Amino acid sequence: MNPDDVLELFDACAGVTFSTAIIHRTESEWQEILTPAVYRVARKAGTEPPFSGIYTKCDKEGVYACACCGTHLFFSQDKFDSGTGWPSFSRPVSPDNIEVHQDSSYGMMRTEVLCRRCKAHLGHVFDDGPLPDRTRYCMNSLSLSLVVCGTEIPDTNMAKSVHE
Ligand SMILES: [Zn+2]
Repeated sequence: MNPDDVLELFDACAGVTFSTAIIHRTESEWQEILTPAVYRVARKAGTEPPFSGIYTKCDKEGVYACACCGTHLFFSQDKFDSGTGWPSFSRPVSPDNIEVHQDSSYGMMRTEVLCRRCKAHLGHVFDDGPLPDRTRYCMNSLSLSLVVCGTEIPDTNMAKSVHE
């Protein structure tokens, strides 16, 4: 493991932090692993059409993980119905598991949210969410994969199993 690649991430099922490494893959490797729809959103900063995603209305319990690498991102308890057509969360499982960047594409100043481990594009964060923090993590279903704690999480290929 390259020491520069070491990350401390939060395991939302176990409630502990653990050391792992940043995931580096080439574009063609991602294309092999992911469905075209997941690739377009998660690797090319696309946005799924509103109300199209499988998690928009989902109220199952679990942990929403990165569709590309399985990093835990959001608890189902922090999901709320924003009415926007995209799954929305009030906070991540840990600020350690995500990265935020200023995004000025399409003539808008927005804050992009990425998976810290594999840099997947997840969506954007806005300040019109519920109290107390007002944050609304507006995510693409295609960038997420709902996992139930206690079940085996495949390291890759999650998107193909979930979104096909
Ligand atoms: Zn990831």
